[in-house]
Amino acid sequence: MGKKHQKVVVLPCSGIGKVFGALARETAYELVENVRPGLATLTCLPLLVINDPEAVALVTENPVITIDGCPKDCAKKSVEALGKVVDKAYEAIKFYKEHKDLKPEGIAEVTDTGRKLAAVAAAEVAKMVDELAAGEEK
Ligand code: SF4
Repeated sequence: MGKKHQKVVVLPCSGIGKVFGALARETAYELVENVRPGLATLTCLPLLVINDPEAVALVTENPVITIDGCPKDCAKKSVEALGKVVDKAYEAIKFYKEHKDLKPEGIAEVTDTGRKLAAVAAAEVAKMVDELAAGEEK
């Protein structure tokens, strides 16, 4: 059992113009607003890219889960560029592959079906948030 944490950072990629980028963002919003409010926390990916001190401190001092919209893994790589090992990295397409009845659509934001998939994805990611907050091994 490792150190307990009050915050777990959930970092989606920016994913502009891509449905799985929109799904990654929606999943993170669902976690932070509804599923694990007060525990799961977000920061803005470009803040890491410009080395904003508060954003950098947040991700280096707390466990980090990334959710990327495609194999380019921008969120994961942005964290790794700071010398931080990501605690868990997801690609959003995984959630669709496991729930093919919920096909996400929309690129600026997901449609109702995408929101349902984001809720399913957030429930899965929440288990990882809880484990990391409790200081359990990956
Ligand atoms: S991981 Fe893919 S979808 Fe996400 S910001 Fe990078 S290129 Fe865009």
